[in-house]
Amino acid sequence: MKLILLGAPGAGKGTVAKKLTQLDGSVQISTGDILRGAVKAGTELGKKIEQLMASGDLVSDELVMGIMEERLQQPDCEKGFLLDGFPRTIPQAEALKALLENLDITLDMAVNLSVDREVVLDRLSTRRTCSNSECQAIYNIKSNPTQKGGICDKCGSPVIQRDDETTEAISRRLATYTEKTAPLIDYYEAEGLLITVDATSTEGVLAAIKQKLES
Ligand code: ADP
Repeated sequence: MKLILLGAPGAGKGTVAKKLTQLDGSVQISTGDILRGAVKAGTELGKKIEQLMASGDLVSDELVMGIMEERLQQPDCEKGFLLDGFPRTIPQAEALKALLENLDITLDMAVNLSVDREVVLDRLSTRRTCSNSECQAIYNIKSNPTQKGGICDKCGSPVIQRDDETTEAISRRLATYTEKTAPLIDYYEAEGLLITVDATSTEGVLAAIKQKLES
């Protein structure tokens, strides 16, 4: 499957993407994970974007498109991909459209994960992420805690709260989402690719996507 996952921070894009990869070998491509990996590795790129990301601002469209242009041409994308956190702006969506046309790739759909603001705020402040950039498993201290306090079940690395999960950075990310990313809902509706699903339960989201892919 070739899907775009849309939705506010905390809507569950990453969690849904990880589950979908288990269905048919499609790969999850999270621009957030790729960018955090660059920050952690201390590359030139990482140093440039570290502050920006910690405060909850977006990285430039040019930079993200450069990364994605390369990523989408890697052989593991042939089986399918789940775009998680990309595109994030209208210019990114337009550039992605041109890129996919060039590569002769057709998207199945753009899934809008819809969830109330209060739920998102609660989920983000209680979210914890595995600090190992190869793993990045996601937990929640209320709904999905680690088995051993603070240690990732999958790889044993410490589980941490992300720099951009302070109250201040969270409200900035939500404002950025409303201003820059929410317009993509109308964009993909006009492209005839949009489905909107209630993202309160991950199982419900997965069922809706499977049903649509089969129809
Ligand atoms: P979330 O969806 O929970 O906000 P992500 O992990 O997708 O988190 O993104 C974290 C940060 O990475 C964003 O706040 C932004 O700084 C940067 N980022 C990720 N994807 C993009 C993108 N497509 N365009 C610009 N910046 C991005």
